[in-house]
Amino acid sequence: MPVRHFSVPKHYETDLESVLIPNGMIRDRIDRLARNILEECTPHSEITLLCVLKGAYLFFSEMISVLMRLNVDRPNPVRIHVEFVRLSSYANDVSTGHVRILGLNLAGLYGKHLLIIEDIVDTGRSAIALLEELRRTEPASVRFASLLLKKSPHWNGFRPDYVGFIIPDAFLVGYALDYNEHFRDLDHLCILNDEAKAKYQVSLTSNPMAALLMS
Ligand code: 5GP
Ligand code: MG
Ligand code: MG
Repeated sequence: MPVRHFSVPKHYETDLESVLIPNGMIRDRIDRLARNILEECTPHSEITLLCVLKGAYLFFSEMISVLMRLNVDRPNPVRIHVEFVRLSSYANDVSTGHVRILGLNLAGLYGKHLLIIEDIVDTGRSAIALLEELRRTEPASVRFASLLLKKSPHWNGFRPDYVGFIIPDAFLVGYALDYNEHFRDLDHLCILNDEAKAKYQVSLTSNPMAALLMS
Protein backbone atom coordinates (compact mmCIF):
# COMPACT_ATOMS: atom_id res chain seq x y z
CA MET A 1 0.00 0.00 0.00
CA PRO A 2 1.32 3.48 -0.79
CA VAL A 3 3.23 5.11 2.06
CA ARG A 4 1.37 8.42 1.59
CA HIS A 5 -1.83 6.85 3.00
CA PHE A 6 -0.14 6.22 6.37
CA SER A 7 1.41 8.15 9.24
CA VAL A 8 5.15 7.66 9.22
CA PRO A 9 7.83 9.82 10.84
CA LYS A 10 9.26 12.44 8.46
CA HIS A 11 12.76 10.98 8.74
CA TYR A 12 11.61 7.77 7.03
CA GLU A 13 9.20 9.19 4.42
CA THR A 14 11.53 8.71 1.44
CA ASP A 15 13.01 5.39 2.60
CA LEU A 16 10.00 3.13 2.13
CA GLU A 17 8.79 1.31 -0.94
CA SER A 18 5.39 0.51 0.55
CA VAL A 19 3.48 -0.36 3.71
CA LEU A 20 3.00 -4.13 3.74
CA ILE A 21 1.12 -4.57 7.04
CA PRO A 22 -0.32 -1.55 8.86
CA ASN A 23 -0.04 -1.35 12.65
CA GLY A 24 -3.78 -1.91 13.21
CA MET A 25 -3.71 -5.15 11.26
CA ILE A 26 -0.67 -6.37 13.21
CA ARG A 27 -2.43 -5.71 16.51
CA ASP A 28 -5.64 -7.41 15.38
CA ARG A 29 -3.67 -10.47 14.35
CA ILE A 30 -1.82 -10.59 17.67
CA ASP A 31 -5.16 -10.45 19.50
CA ARG A 32 -6.26 -13.58 17.60
CA LEU A 33 -2.93 -15.35 18.18
CA ALA A 34 -3.07 -14.61 21.90
CA ARG A 35 -6.54 -16.18 22.12
CA ASN A 36 -5.30 -19.31 20.32
CA ILE A 37 -2.28 -19.51 22.60
CA LEU A 38 -4.36 -19.22 25.76
CA GLU A 39 -6.81 -21.88 24.58
CA GLU A 40 -3.99 -24.29 23.78
CA CYS A 41 -1.95 -23.74 26.92
CA THR A 42 -4.90 -24.28 29.25
CA PRO A 43 -3.49 -27.59 30.57
CA HIS A 44 -0.53 -25.60 31.94
CA SER A 45 -1.11 -23.21 34.79
CA GLU A 46 2.06 -21.24 33.98
CA ILE A 47 3.93 -20.27 30.82
CA THR A 48 7.19 -18.43 30.26
CA LEU A 49 7.33 -16.10 27.28
CA LEU A 50 10.86 -15.81 25.91
CA CYS A 51 11.32 -12.60 23.95
CA VAL A 52 13.97 -12.71 21.23
CA LEU A 53 15.55 -9.24 21.27
CA LYS A 54 15.59 -6.84 19.74
CA GLY A 55 13.25 -7.40 16.82
CA ALA A 56 10.42 -9.08 18.74
CA TYR A 57 10.04 -6.57 21.54
CA LEU A 58 6.88 -4.89 20.19
CA PHE A 59 5.28 -8.22 19.25
CA PHE A 60 6.14 -9.49 22.72
CA SER A 61 4.84 -6.38 24.45
CA GLU A 62 1.53 -6.44 22.54
CA MET A 63 1.18 -10.20 23.09
CA ILE A 64 1.69 -9.85 26.85
CA SER A 65 -0.83 -6.99 27.03
CA VAL A 66 -3.50 -9.04 25.28
CA LEU A 67 -2.76 -12.16 27.34
CA MET A 68 -3.03 -10.17 30.57
CA ARG A 69 -6.36 -8.66 29.47
CA LEU A 70 -7.78 -12.05 28.45
CA ASN A 71 -6.52 -13.65 31.66
CA VAL A 72 -8.61 -11.32 33.82
CA ASP A 73 -11.86 -12.83 32.49
CA ARG A 74 -10.78 -16.44 32.73
CA PRO A 75 -11.95 -18.75 35.52
CA ASN A 76 -8.57 -20.53 35.25
CA PRO A 77 -6.01 -17.83 34.38
CA VAL A 78 -2.52 -18.79 33.26
CA ARG A 79 0.41 -17.28 35.17
CA ILE A 80 2.82 -15.59 32.78
CA HIS A 81 6.56 -15.23 33.31
CA VAL A 82 8.97 -13.38 31.05
CA GLU A 83 12.52 -14.05 29.92
CA PHE A 84 14.72 -12.42 27.30
CA VAL A 85 17.46 -13.51 24.93
CA ARG A 86 19.44 -11.58 22.35
CA LEU A 87 20.07 -13.15 18.94
CA SER A 88 22.03 -11.56 16.16
CA SER A 89 23.08 -12.69 12.74
CA TYR A 90 22.30 -9.89 10.29
CA ALA A 91 24.48 -7.19 8.78
CA ASN A 92 22.74 -4.86 6.32
CA ASP A 93 19.98 -7.07 4.85
CA VAL A 94 22.05 -10.24 4.67
CA SER A 95 22.38 -13.06 7.17
CA THR A 96 26.02 -13.59 8.15
CA GLY A 97 25.19 -17.25 8.68
CA HIS A 98 26.58 -17.13 12.21
CA VAL A 99 23.95 -16.85 14.95
CA ARG A 100 25.09 -15.35 18.27
CA ILE A 101 22.96 -16.14 21.33
CA LEU A 102 23.45 -13.79 24.26
CA GLY A 103 22.03 -13.45 27.75
CA LEU A 104 20.05 -16.68 28.05
CA ASN A 105 19.06 -17.34 31.66
CA LEU A 106 19.61 -21.10 31.63
CA ALA A 107 18.56 -21.70 35.24
CA GLY A 108 15.37 -19.66 34.78
CA LEU A 109 14.16 -21.88 31.94
CA TYR A 110 14.61 -25.29 33.55
CA GLY A 111 11.34 -27.24 33.72
CA LYS A 112 9.28 -24.36 32.27
CA HIS A 113 6.63 -24.35 29.54
CA LEU A 114 8.30 -21.98 27.09
CA LEU A 115 6.77 -19.91 24.35
CA ILE A 116 9.43 -18.29 22.17
CA ILE A 117 8.37 -14.93 20.76
CA GLU A 118 10.28 -14.08 17.57
CA ASP A 119 9.79 -11.35 14.98
CA ILE A 120 10.49 -13.21 11.75
CA VAL A 121 11.58 -16.59 10.45
CA ASP A 122 13.51 -16.20 7.21
CA THR A 123 16.01 -19.02 6.60
CA GLY A 124 14.99 -20.60 9.92
CA ARG A 125 18.62 -20.80 11.03
CA SER A 126 18.21 -18.57 14.10
CA ALA A 127 15.19 -20.57 15.24
CA ILE A 128 17.00 -23.89 14.99
CA ALA A 129 20.11 -22.49 16.74
CA LEU A 130 17.99 -21.15 19.60
CA LEU A 131 15.97 -24.36 19.95
CA GLU A 132 19.18 -26.40 20.13
CA GLU A 133 20.56 -24.13 22.83
CA LEU A 134 17.27 -24.27 24.76
CA ARG A 135 17.28 -28.05 24.79
CA ARG A 136 20.25 -27.81 27.17
CA THR A 137 18.06 -25.97 29.70
CA GLU A 138 15.65 -28.95 29.85
CA PRO A 139 12.37 -27.02 29.59
CA ALA A 140 9.08 -28.91 30.14
CA SER A 141 7.87 -27.88 26.68
CA VAL A 142 8.77 -25.42 23.94
CA ARG A 143 6.49 -23.70 21.44
CA PHE A 144 7.44 -21.06 18.91
CA ALA A 145 5.47 -17.98 17.87
CA SER A 146 6.74 -15.79 15.03
CA LEU A 147 4.95 -12.66 13.88
CA LEU A 148 6.22 -13.27 10.35
CA LEU A 149 7.24 -16.24 8.22
CA LYS A 150 9.04 -15.27 5.05
CA LYS A 151 8.68 -17.21 1.79
CA SER A 152 12.44 -17.47 1.51
CA PRO A 153 14.22 -19.57 -1.13
CA HIS A 154 16.74 -20.36 1.64
CA TRP A 155 14.10 -21.58 4.12
CA ASN A 156 15.23 -24.70 6.03
CA GLY A 157 11.67 -25.94 6.57
CA PHE A 158 11.28 -24.81 10.18
CA ARG A 159 7.60 -23.99 10.74
CA PRO A 160 6.66 -22.10 13.94
CA ASP A 161 3.67 -23.31 15.99
CA TYR A 162 2.10 -19.85 15.67
CA VAL A 163 2.56 -17.49 12.71
CA GLY A 164 1.07 -14.01 12.38
CA PHE A 165 1.57 -13.45 8.66
CA ILE A 166 3.25 -15.28 5.79
CA ILE A 167 5.09 -12.63 3.78
CA PRO A 168 6.84 -12.42 0.40
CA ASP A 169 10.62 -12.62 0.09
CA ALA A 170 11.39 -8.93 0.72
CA PHE A 171 13.35 -7.13 3.44
CA LEU A 172 10.91 -5.64 5.95
CA VAL A 173 11.42 -2.92 8.53
CA GLY A 174 9.25 -1.35 11.21
CA TYR A 175 7.31 -2.66 14.19
CA ALA A 176 10.73 -3.16 15.88
CA LEU A 177 12.38 -4.81 12.86
CA ASP A 178 15.53 -2.93 11.90
CA TYR A 179 17.94 -2.24 9.11
CA ASN A 180 21.28 -1.64 10.85
CA GLU A 181 19.37 -0.41 13.93
CA HIS A 182 17.17 2.05 12.00
CA PHE A 183 13.37 1.79 11.57
CA ARG A 184 12.58 0.18 14.93
CA ASP A 185 10.65 3.42 15.63
CA LEU A 186 8.17 2.88 12.79
CA ASP A 187 4.60 1.67 13.53
CA HIS A 188 3.91 -0.29 10.35
CA LEU A 189 5.69 -3.20 8.67
CA CYS A 190 7.15 -1.71 5.52
CA ILE A 191 9.27 -2.71 2.55
CA LEU A 192 12.53 -0.77 2.40
CA ASN A 193 13.51 0.83 -0.93
CA ASP A 194 16.91 0.38 -2.57
CA GLU A 195 17.98 4.00 -1.95
CA ALA A 196 17.46 3.51 1.79
CA LYS A 197 19.43 0.25 1.76
CA ALA A 198 22.37 2.18 0.31
CA LYS A 199 21.83 5.17 2.61
CA TYR A 200 21.90 3.17 5.84
CA GLN A 201 24.40 0.54 4.73
CA VAL A 202 27.38 -0.16 6.98
CA SER A 203 30.70 -1.36 5.67
CA LEU A 204 31.86 -4.35 7.69
CA THR A 205 35.45 -4.05 6.56
CA SER A 206 36.01 -0.29 6.98
CA ASN A 207 34.07 -0.05 10.26
CA PRO A 208 35.26 -2.61 12.82
CA MET A 209 32.45 -1.58 15.18
CA ALA A 210 29.84 -2.47 12.55
CA ALA A 211 29.84 -6.09 13.67
CA LEU A 212 28.30 -4.86 16.92
CA LEU A 213 25.33 -3.57 14.94
CA MET A 214 24.39 -7.01 13.70
CA SER A 215 21.05 -7.92 15.20
P1 5GP B 1 16.75 -16.44 9.97
O1 5GP B 1 17.80 -16.96 10.90
O2 5GP B 1 15.44 -17.17 10.02
O3 5GP B 1 17.27 -16.33 8.56
O4 5GP B 1 16.46 -14.95 10.35
C1 5GP B 1 15.99 -14.62 11.56
C2 5GP B 1 16.38 -13.21 11.93
O5 5GP B 1 16.91 -12.46 10.82
C3 5GP B 1 15.17 -12.47 12.36
O6 5GP B 1 14.90 -12.70 13.70
C4 5GP B 1 15.55 -11.04 12.03
O7 5GP B 1 16.30 -10.50 13.10
C5 5GP B 1 16.42 -11.14 10.81
N1 5GP B 1 15.62 -10.94 9.57
C6 5GP B 1 15.26 -11.87 8.67
N2 5GP B 1 14.50 -11.33 7.68
C7 5GP B 1 14.38 -10.03 8.00
C8 5GP B 1 13.68 -8.93 7.37
O8 5GP B 1 13.00 -9.02 6.34
N3 5GP B 1 13.79 -7.73 7.99
C9 5GP B 1 14.52 -7.55 9.14
N4 5GP B 1 14.55 -6.33 9.65
N5 5GP B 1 15.16 -8.56 9.77
C10 5GP B 1 15.09 -9.78 9.19
MG1 MG C 1 14.44 -11.86 15.45
MG1 MG D 1 17.90 -7.03 12.86
